[in-house]
Amino acid sequence: MHSFLIVGAGQAGLQLGIGLLQHGHKVTLISDKSSADFLNGPIFSTQGLFNTALQNERDLELNFYESSCPQNTTIRFKIALPEHSIAFEGKVSAFFQAVDQRLKFSRWLDYFVTLGGNLCIKKMTLLELEELVPQYDLTLIASGKGELGQLFRRNEKESIYSRPPRILAAQYLQGMSPLKPHGMRATIIPGVGEYFTMSGLTLNGYCEMLLFEGIPGGDFDCWQDINTAAEQLARSRILLEKYAPIDAERYRLATLADSKAVLRGSYTPVVRHPIGYLPHSGKPVLGLGDAVVLNDPIAGQGANNASKAARIYLDSIIKCDQAQFDENWMQMVFNNYWVYAKAATQLSNMLLQPMPSQILDLFSSAVNNPVIANRLANGFHDPTTLFPWIFDVTSTSDVI
Ligand SMILES: Cc1cc2nc3c(=O)[nH]c(=O)nc-3n(C[C@H](O)[C@H](O)[C@H](O)COP(=O)(O)OP(=O)(O)OC[C@H]3O[C@@H](n4cnc5c(N)ncnc54)[C@H](O)[C@@H]3O)c2cc1C
Repeated sequence: MHSFLIVGAGQAGLQLGIGLLQHGHKVTLISDKSSADFLNGPIFSTQGLFNTALQNERDLELNFYESSCPQNTTIRFKIALPEHSIAFEGKVSAFFQAVDQRLKFSRWLDYFVTLGGNLCIKKMTLLELEELVPQYDLTLIASGKGELGQLFRRNEKESIYSRPPRILAAQYLQGMSPLKPHGMRATIIPGVGEYFTMSGLTLNGYCEMLLFEGIPGGDFDCWQDINTAAEQLARSRILLEKYAPIDAERYRLATLADSKAVLRGSYTPVVRHPIGYLPHSGKPVLGLGDAVVLNDPIAGQGANNASKAARIYLDSIIKCDQAQFDENWMQMVFNNYWVYAKAATQLSNMLLQPMPSQILDLFSSAVNNPVIANRLANGFHDPTTLFPWIFDVTSTSDVI
């Protein structure tokens, strides 16, 4: 039996912590939120999880909401070019789901305690980490976008942004007829940004999770003067009237799922080196999830990555039960995860840039070719299946 300290109760920290407890290890989890704080606070994400991540949750019997959450089976893309639109729909080979993280993390936190985990509700500081780290066999930092991520040096080669590429605004809506089939609708408006809508489950049932990604300075970068959830909904309606009148009509009677079902903000994507060193003792700690690989949500990869990372770290710990969790081991574990995370980063960064002509051509081919459409849709489940061919398609047969 080993002892682990995990900082951060999100997708990565909770999933790993619960997995370690189930394998008989001792785990202390530091969370800056209690389960009531999660339930009563604002939304964090739109968190669509594809099958690999959902399977990771099933394997740990964490799929508490699988039967009540809509099963999304399609991704519909629309690229609204000035002269014409390209629109196609791909089917994914297994459904994906979006469960409000407030609901999920609150339940997981309680479950962690039920399994015998040691939960400590506080915002961990570097000073306290210096005291605690020597008491554990391994410390993992899964603090998401929190400041502790700065323990990990920026990987200059893999990090291409020095400022936020998008301004984000999300909201969960209810009161419209459900999307049929359940799925994700992605609308790309060159020069303005993107907006996404996806069927999901929130605190009080079915909702649609609507996310605007605004190119800085463009029409979707328009939230600075918004102070309330009601104002955000009103501004969203104006954007939809202008850019997506059909959706505006669908959402005409929609209301916010609750008064905290909104989010606005921006952040800079970054890839960090996975091993951080405490400033005084120099003790190494291992980063996990967004703390070390933070992408813009445009490709919906962050929570999927966090789940994949937690799974790979868990499997590595179990396999090497006698392991000394030294820096070589830490680097090796991260490298195994980076295979996925690199492709997810590449996909996210590709979608943030103006679309190159070969990608537009590929999307045009998908309009009348379901094999291409499905392959593109499934690429969001496993982005490693998209590269390198996506940049190098000369004929449809390259895809099939
Ligand atoms: C608008 C938006 C839409 C998104 N949509 C999707 C999507 O569709 N699909 C997808 O896969 N991903 C999506 N993501 C990304 C996804 O939500 C994150 O990547 C994922 O939650 C990261 O998991 P994590 O465990 O690394 O961090 P988090 O889930 O952020 O958890 C980190 C936890 O650590 C806590 N913490 C931070 N600092 C401290 C501290 N010092 N002490 C104690 N606790 C601390 C935080 O409060 C938080 O609870 C989206 C993100 C945003 C912003």
